[in-house]
Amino acid sequence: MTNTNQTDTIKIDPRCMGEDFMPAYSATGYILPCCYADNYNIEDFDSLMEDHLSIDNIEDIEKEVLNSKEWNNFFKLLKVTPELAPRSCKFYCGHNWSTANRIKLGDN
Ligand code: SF4
Repeated sequence: MTNTNQTDTIKIDPRCMGEDFMPAYSATGYILPCCYADNYNIEDFDSLMEDHLSIDNIEDIEKEVLNSKEWNNFFKLLKVTPELAPRSCKFYCGHNWSTANRIKLGDN
């Protein structure tokens, strides 16, 4: 499994906000923005796993989940404050992430 624990200030080009958007269904019972979200850092997506967003509590995924306040806030965070984004987002959809961390590692 890939380690996504590194963090840095970074620009994110979210695939989940483009034509490649392909939500994932987590084994925990929630819709997530992509399959990358469903990893051992899944707690980074806690805001998308509120009880009322559980697949058990919804009838219309698009209306009640994908257009929910929580999802809109998540997409806003990716664009406006990417440094606060989940580690998976920085790793898989971030730009210059690995270069920046390689430089930091070299400084130690
Ligand atoms: S890793 Fe994050 S930014 Fe990239 S598609 Fe998945 S949820 Fe969106």
